[in-house]
Amino acid sequence: MAGQAPKRTVGVSLKMYFNLESTAQYIRDCAPLAPHALSRNVDIFIIPDFLSLTAASTTLRLEAPTIRLGAQDCFWEDNGAYTGEVSPVVLKHIGCSLVELGHAERRRLFGETDAQVAKKAKAAVRNGMTPLVCIGEKTKGTVEEAVAECRPQIESILEVTEEEIIFAYEPVWAIGQPKPASAEYVVSVAKELRKLCGKRPVFASIPAGLAQYKDKVEFVLGAASALDPTSKTVTISTASGERQQTYDILVLATGSRANGDVPWKSSLAGYEATRDGLHKFQEQVKVAKSIVIGGAGPTGVETAGELGFEYGKNKEITLITAGPQLLVGVPPHVASFAENDLKKLHVKLLKGTKITNTSTSSTGQTELTLSNGDKVTVDLYLPTIGLLPNTEYVPKKLLNEKGDVMVDQFLRVKGVESVWAAGDIVDCQPGQFVYTEKQAAAVAKNLDLVLKGKQAVAYKSDGDPMLAVALGRSRGTGRFGNMKLPSLVVWLVKGRNMGMPKQSGLVMGTAF
Ligand SMILES: Cc1cc2nc3c(=O)[nH]c(=O)nc-3n(C[C@H](O)[C@H](O)[C@H](O)COP(=O)(O)OP(=O)(O)OC[C@H]3O[C@@H](n4cnc5c(N)ncnc54)[C@H](O)[C@@H]3O)c2cc1C
Repeated sequence: MAGQAPKRTVGVSLKMYFNLESTAQYIRDCAPLAPHALSRNVDIFIIPDFLSLTAASTTLRLEAPTIRLGAQDCFWEDNGAYTGEVSPVVLKHIGCSLVELGHAERRRLFGETDAQVAKKAKAAVRNGMTPLVCIGEKTKGTVEEAVAECRPQIESILEVTEEEIIFAYEPVWAIGQPKPASAEYVVSVAKELRKLCGKRPVFASIPAGLAQYKDKVEFVLGAASALDPTSKTVTISTASGERQQTYDILVLATGSRANGDVPWKSSLAGYEATRDGLHKFQEQVKVAKSIVIGGAGPTGVETAGELGFEYGKNKEITLITAGPQLLVGVPPHVASFAENDLKKLHVKLLKGTKITNTSTSSTGQTELTLSNGDKVTVDLYLPTIGLLPNTEYVPKKLLNEKGDVMVDQFLRVKGVESVWAAGDIVDCQPGQFVYTEKQAAAVAKNLDLVLKGKQAVAYKSDGDPMLAVALGRSRGTGRFGNMKLPSLVVWLVKGRNMGMPKQSGLVMGTAF
């Protein structure tokens, strides 16, 4: 996100260097770092020895709850006759959110294999913890040789889980040596390793993300199906049946979904359905020879740019829009920049034309009827015609005609007590993450004030409209007020993250 420092992960494993007392002191000394780290978007973790974990967990909970606690290993089974092993269930229970796995010393001294490390990683994930997997090459060689040696260490983990993983890269040949590996070498290897990590689907585990708040947050996997503001009750459908949840304060943040059978947003049927929908979509794109994108808002333009970049020369990609220009509402020079770039990516444009009807043929193709009377048959039709608010469970009197939740200047839901809302479902701003993030922060601040008996503060929803649209992988356009955003700025904000996993980190260095 623009203006926010990129996420960094910094931490230490204490190996077997300290005793109970010095470990406790070390953790107390680290605690004051927590607020600084948080304000700079740095995730800190500490991994003490097993016997210090319980005391460390108590200290961190009281003094620095945002510092993550990790264990130096775990077994791949949850419990049973495994004398001497450490259960991931117990680690989770005492407050660990990370498990360090496959350290070079464990691989060398205890013969741990990639397959065993993968089984342990799966167990950590199963218990809501993030595996911190140590990787590295044994012998000094070229960057290519190092990457080839690390590849199976990474791939064996990515094969067993789609959840968040942190890979900690360290050249094994440099551990404990008087001269460390050069920064240039480490950065070159890490750059290639990131590409390998990027080949995995992009999903982040909600329970793992919430683990830092320990027992202060209960995560319920389910869908709100009804809201009764009079009895202050939400009905939630879960896999094990219906559950009634009463509340003192309720925050609505159920966002929006795509209008049509396209995987632009997560499926309400859950993570597996979202993942399967994306895989199906990838296959459809791969085999289609002709693709029509309907609608030239930010989603349509970005999709056309992505497809043009990847397939512009060997598939027929067409963008059809009813509006007179792309990205209706942006200044004309921003729209024409997008138009020119899409043409360079071999995307055909049809402006001022509405898709009035669609029907699927027996061969799976789609026939589109256009407002100019033409009929077009395409292998794949991708509608990008807006988003629908997920507010079916909210009483109608709280919604406007589009189905958005009506909020006041404080982001409180109008006409009801103790209900707040943020994100795509509110009626005060367009559905953009930049606004969602600000609204969420404003609601959190107001809840804090109200709970302390103070006045809520008005949310400022004015300011220059902003929009950043990627055009392929290396360019982009957008607006900040009436000003056009330079391509480089858009690329810095969005483009360079494309194809990079946001949830898998790579820690480099010699702290392990
Ligand atoms: C293709 C695309 C690209 C985008 N690119 C950008 C961009 O570059 N920059 C930008 O600022 N914005 C962008 N946006 C907009 C951005 O994604 C949204 O503004 C943002 O996701 C809204 O966040 P949210 O938390 O309000 O809702 P959502 O992200 O929609 O999350 C809502 C969550 O609630 C869950 N949910 C829904 N119904 C229920 C229920 N009844 N009970 C329980 N849970 C429920 C959903 O499963 C989902 O997990 C893009 C949107 C799309 C579609």
